[in-house]
Amino acid sequence: MEYEYTRKNYFKEADEQERKAIFDYAEGYKQFLFTSKTERGACATAVELCRERGYRSYMFGDKIKAGDKLYFVNRDKNIFIIRIGTNDVEKCGIKIMAAHVDSPRLDLKPNPLYEDGGLAFFKTHYYGGIKKYQWPTIPLALEGVVVLRGGKRVSVNVGDDEGDPIFYITDLLPHLSQEQNELKLGKAISGESLNAIVGAMPDGAEEKEGVKAAVLKLLHDKYGITEIDFQTSELCFVPAGKPRDVGFDRALISAYGHDDKVCAYPEMTALFEGDGKDTVMAIFADKEETGSQGVTGMQSRVILDLMDSVSRALGADPILVRYNSKCISADVCAAFDPEYASVYEKRNSSYINCGASVTKYHGARGKASTNDASAEMVGYVRDALEDNGVIYQTGELGKIDIGGGGTVAMYIADLGIDTLDMGVPVLSMHAPYEIISKADLYSMHKAMLAFVNKH
Ligand code: MN
Ligand code: MN
Repeated sequence: MEYEYTRKNYFKEADEQERKAIFDYAEGYKQFLFTSKTERGACATAVELCRERGYRSYMFGDKIKAGDKLYFVNRDKNIFIIRIGTNDVEKCGIKIMAAHVDSPRLDLKPNPLYEDGGLAFFKTHYYGGIKKYQWPTIPLALEGVVVLRGGKRVSVNVGDDEGDPIFYITDLLPHLSQEQNELKLGKAISGESLNAIVGAMPDGAEEKEGVKAAVLKLLHDKYGITEIDFQTSELCFVPAGKPRDVGFDRALISAYGHDDKVCAYPEMTALFEGDGKDTVMAIFADKEETGSQGVTGMQSRVILDLMDSVSRALGADPILVRYNSKCISADVCAAFDPEYASVYEKRNSSYINCGASVTKYHGARGKASTNDASAEMVGYVRDALEDNGVIYQTGELGKIDIGGGGTVAMYIADLGIDTLDMGVPVLSMHAPYEIISKADLYSMHKAMLAFVNKH
């Protein structure tokens, strides 16, 4: 009998075969992540993976039956993958896993293009919580869509293919930074200064035209767009490049957008691999980083309509289905960082390699603005994890009075659904390149699978 609780290191617990499984799983994730930098990218990639496995598109009102494999794409930015189980959905409810697939980045302003000092720039308005000083002098890719007159959509994706150009925000040379160095970290780089270079060559054929005109001409040649079309576009700069292994032992992965694709991917693979008994729904939500508002965010009615529609199609009472449903709000948490130990409370932090972390509550200032899961709900998930030998841990975000944060958990709990936060610990969260552990990633997959298969 073990009386004392100690956190376990998953790599220490894993035998050779398990370590191989951990590393193999990470390769699939890295591939998924590279094409899922934005919510649109993540949805498109998920649709591809669903179709490969025989899933079909669902629309409200469609007829469905046990065993059906479905996905519902909400405006290309939010996807619900649904696997109809053989168990009575009224009695067993729906097993929901909700992650988000939007990540902090630099969106283009509606009128982004200007010329100054012989250079052409795009002006940006950052999306989500960023530390602005981290974005200058790194390679950026441009991604998104432009909607032309009449509704035709043009996709843009420049900077991630080998041989593509990248985009770049400058910073001041140290020789002239005396004044800048005196500024506070949060003030040294302003939002309005996050403008990326997009061109530097005036049009040679018509000498009087500058760089801006030359860039517009290039854009028209390649995409058929003119300057006003930016006003009907969603374009953003994201860090360029592929996920990379970190360290001599390759235990960690550095990449853009782990928050929260590192939870979205495991909930999807768990749904695919589940036993098919309970009805399962994996959600890739949009807009979490700006508060979950809007038609593709988790505060939208779409989830409610979808659950109602599916329930009715199965001849079940939607109210009972909802009441008996359970949800894992699958979102990342802060990993303990020994370089910044003072902001963490050591006994209640999440540690790299110690597995996916259960977070009973987030919030700030005395648990404000959070879902605080019940002991019963935490107990339910604990049983699922321990019955399946999942290495997991429990943590809080950081010290009580230092700050805080939130997830989509409270919006789902507000629908009357028992919800618990759980996710992969991240180092340098919200930085252009974040770090996670392959062991924690695989632990998340096993945790979600244990949740899906608990009856
Ligand atoms: Mn998140
Ligand atoms: Mn976040």
